[in-house]
Amino acid sequence: MTDQNLVLNTTPHALARELSGLLLIGGELRPAATGKTFDVVNPATGDVIATAADGGERDVDAAVRAAVAAQGAWARLSARERGRLLVECGRRLVGHAEEIGRLLALETGKAIRTESRVEASLVADTLTFYGGLASELKGETVPFHPKMLTFTQREPIGVVGAIIPWNVPLYLMALKIAPALVAGNAVIVKSAEEAPLAALRVIQVMNQLLPPGVLNILSGDGPGCGAPLVTHPGVGKVTFTGSVETGKIISHLAADKLIPVTLELGGKSPMIVMGDADLDKAIDGAVAGMRFTRQGQSCTASSRIFVHESLHDAFIDKLKAKVDAMTMGDPLDEATDIGTIISPQQFERVQSYIALGETTAGAIAHRCSALPTDERLARGLFVQPVLFTGLANDHRLAREEIFGPVTCVIAFRDYEDALAMANDSDFGLAATIWTRDLRTALDATRRLQAGFVQVNQNLVVQPGLSYGGFKQSGLGKEASLEAMLDHFTHKKTVIINMD
Ligand code: ADP
Repeated sequence: MTDQNLVLNTTPHALARELSGLLLIGGELRPAATGKTFDVVNPATGDVIATAADGGERDVDAAVRAAVAAQGAWARLSARERGRLLVECGRRLVGHAEEIGRLLALETGKAIRTESRVEASLVADTLTFYGGLASELKGETVPFHPKMLTFTQREPIGVVGAIIPWNVPLYLMALKIAPALVAGNAVIVKSAEEAPLAALRVIQVMNQLLPPGVLNILSGDGPGCGAPLVTHPGVGKVTFTGSVETGKIISHLAADKLIPVTLELGGKSPMIVMGDADLDKAIDGAVAGMRFTRQGQSCTASSRIFVHESLHDAFIDKLKAKVDAMTMGDPLDEATDIGTIISPQQFERVQSYIALGETTAGAIAHRCSALPTDERLARGLFVQPVLFTGLANDHRLAREEIFGPVTCVIAFRDYEDALAMANDSDFGLAATIWTRDLRTALDATRRLQAGFVQVNQNLVVQPGLSYGGFKQSGLGKEASLEAMLDHFTHKKTVIINMD
């Protein structure tokens, strides 16, 4: 496919208009079969910046047909050739990272410097990482019988449906499409209603290099477009990131077809700050961990912070001062640290949790930073970060995923109590502990019920490290070699009788 839009200094607004109303199926940009569209809104201003194609069953069917037609030849390429093409896509995307980052900032309200540009670069990095793993699609020889040559081989599943959310749409999409493609599958992405444009642009750029039909993208709503993708008989695997409720719906639909699903769901991730922790490092870790630059819209957000009582007051003062120093404003402004909440529905949801916390006896809401005063942003979905103290671990704010810049800071005296509170959650995605004591650190890494545990740091998901939750946080792993092998291939056992 040729690139009609390769104008690097295009404005994000112009690019948003160019991509309006389009799906990408079989290498071609096209409107939805019904011709229907929905609005894409800039959450910092409330302005409609574009429309997105409202894909439905007929588009799902067209995408599956295109994917099925392309997948056989794609799987017959050598693994390293597929890997090379993915690395090439990564290289091509580096040249588009700025334009894609700005488009992402425009449609999601995530600040360009602290979030959107970083995310656009991570896409290229992820494609490069998985491209390099192509020759690891190996089987094993098995010493089953001296007269029988017995081995296993990895085969692609076929067509993979990848349903993605709006909070980190590009990186989470890359973590799905890269391993699926390198393993020899064709992929159909279903973007989130709130963030269809930057994802479409990434897929469009990749289609300049990939054979048509290997990588397709649909936009549309969950029940109307996502569900038919899961139930379509041509789709052999679904990988999903989103809410627990939707994950369960998808899991049920997939169970009816008996196809595998990978689910990356919610979290209520604990951060334990022991009395011997390096306080300044822990404060930086809380700012990073709570993803304040992403308005707290992260599954791994440190939304429960257990602080030893000896550090509690100093922790609050210092954390508040740090977040106060962050600038809320126009997501496209380089000076901005914190942008907006994604949508009016999420905004209302976050505000209702804050109101609930504020009206709880004994709770104190420490509001941080300052809302922007720029008139152009008067309709923007800005929420001041809030640190709550005085809420117990069984309060709704400490149990439910808020997906906003709200964290509960809870004091503890005894390590065992902190650990028990940390584990007393329906979720088990990520956890951190901050201490200088090796024995405590090791004990906690064994006993914290979470899929991603860190000591004295709070990194986001990293290519190369398996990532996935325990309990209600999901099923399966992403981001690693294991994720590619276990989640995007079938393992076949072969026996050759040599007698
Ligand atoms: P949120 O509530 O934060 O938007 P969701 O889990 O509902 O999170 O959405 C994540 C992704 O799942 C989006 O792409 C959305 O369109 C899709 N989705 C929502 N409902 C369904 C469904 N019933 N079947 C398939 N996909 C769905």
